[in-house]
This record gives sequence, structure tokens and C-alpha cells, in this order.
Amino acid sequence: MNQYVGRFAPSPTGELHAGSLACALASFLDARAHNGIWLIRIENIDPLREKPGAIEHQLELLERLEMHSDRPIFYQSERLDAYQKTLKKLVQQKLVYGCSCSRKSIKEQQQLLGLPSNVYPGTCRNRTDNRAIRAWRFKVKNETISFQDRICGYFEQNLEKEVGDFVLKRADGFWAYQLAVVCDDAFQGVNHIVRGQDLLDNTPRQIALQQSLGFSTPSYMHIPLVLGEDGNKLSKQNNAKPINPTEIEQALLSAWNHLGFNSFPCDDLTQFYQRATLLWKEKYGLQII
Ligand code: GLU
Repeated sequence: MNQYVGRFAPSPTGELHAGSLACALASFLDARAHNGIWLIRIENIDPLREKPGAIEHQLELLERLEMHSDRPIFYQSERLDAYQKTLKKLVQQKLVYGCSCSRKSIKEQQQLLGLPSNVYPGTCRNRTDNRAIRAWRFKVKNETISFQDRICGYFEQNLEKEVGDFVLKRADGFWAYQLAVVCDDAFQGVNHIVRGQDLLDNTPRQIALQQSLGFSTPSYMHIPLVLGEDGNKLSKQNNAKPINPTEIEQALLSAWNHLGFNSFPCDDLTQFYQRATLLWKEKYGLQII
């Protein structure tokens, strides 16, 4: 087997919270349990949603928790040329097209065709007029894309029916997460992805892109989300409470418990990670495909 390469890839839309810490810990332990490389990648491609100070807070906490990236920290903001080249390649392959729909016109089309609000109706797929291009969309196929998740098991999606042609470059000129994540996982040689279950249904889109670009598909493990008191997923957008740097050890233990493990006595972080890695390996070590 190739060397395991995993990553933690936070977006700086807010500080590190209990949910993102659980993802950081799970991906870190999984990499250690497989003698792998663990990378930190800052997904800062959306300046409109970036929160000042968030990157510093995330990195400071990871540093204090002694979760060190095995290679220099990677910033997606430095990869814009690579995303442009990838888009160009997909345009040349006729797998991507320019879309001039506004939100309003998409909504009207969806209502007309009786489609759910998350499915793009394909309006611009075969257009021949010269209306200005706003966004660039990936042309999906009417086929089932499936994968075996290490926690959630078998998952499948028909992209045409459930998602529609999805955006790779947004109308405001910024890059979409789907394109950036696929380019960088491939570029960094990431072959094991451990992240939150909110991204489970994004995975078939990423697999479709990987297939079109000739990239191999990593193995996936989507961990349960940390829910807030209101039962909703904690997210930076709904102002999840940032982890207080003076309470990180407690936060680390809560993340560990959230991942389904009991606490155990230990004196310091080194001991904690040693024992936690062994326990993780017992539970998940044999699952690597
Ligand atoms: N940047 C994404 C987030 O913070 C995670 C991306 C991923 O793990 O694929 O939600």
C-alpha cells in the first residue's frame, strides 16, 4: 500500500469549535494509527466568509494540542492558478460550461419543472445564446456514484437527479469548495479523508470530478457531527462557541468522548495520543482499503 496521507482542512470562516476539533482529532489519530502523514490545509478561498483572526486561532489551538502538520501548512489562497488550469482542462474536455442563471431564474425553473431547491435544472447546459457567463458548472451524468464509507457504510447518489450540474467557479469569481478540495487532495497525495458527516453527500461530486481529472479516489470516513443544544450541527456560521485556549485539554477529551471512546488516566498530551492511537487502531485500524 502507498503511504497513508491524511489531512485536516478547516475553512477560516470561524474559530475552531468542538465539531472541528473532533475532525482534527479523528484525522490525526487515524493517520498516526496507520503510520501515516498528517497535513493541515487552510481552505481560505472565500474571502467573503472568512473571519479575521480565525486562521490564527485554529493554528494556535492545534499547536497547543501538539497536532503538528508533517509538511508546511498549505493555504488554498496560494493555489488559484492551479484551479484555473484545472477548469480550463475541464472546459476543453467539454465537461464544464458557462452558466448565466441568476438565483431568481434558477428558482423559477425549479418551480416550473417541480425540482427540489438544491437541484440545478440544467438550464444553461445546451444554451446557444451569448448571455454573459456568471458561473462555471460541471456537467454531471445520469449515473449512480457510490462509495464505501468507513463509518457510514455504503453511500450512493445519482448526481443528475439529486444535485444537478454543480458550480466549480462562482458568479462572484471565487472558487467553489468542490473544485479546490479535489485539486488539492490530489496535489498533496491525500489518500485517506476523515471529516464530518455534513460532507458525506458532497463526496459523490468529488468522486465524479476525480474520475474526470484522472485522479484516484481516496478512502473516506465521515465522523458524526457534534450537535449544539438546539440539536443542530455546530458550525462556524451559526456561531458555534470557539474553543477557549485555556480549556483545550477538556475540549480534547470531549472530542475523544464524542468519537465514541471513554476517558482514561494520562499525565500529558504525549501519553494521551499514544494510548488514543492504540485504541483508535483497535477500532478502525483494519478498515483501510
Ligand atoms: N473546509 C471544509 C470545512 O471546513 C472541510 C473540507 C474537507 O474536509 O473536505 O468544512
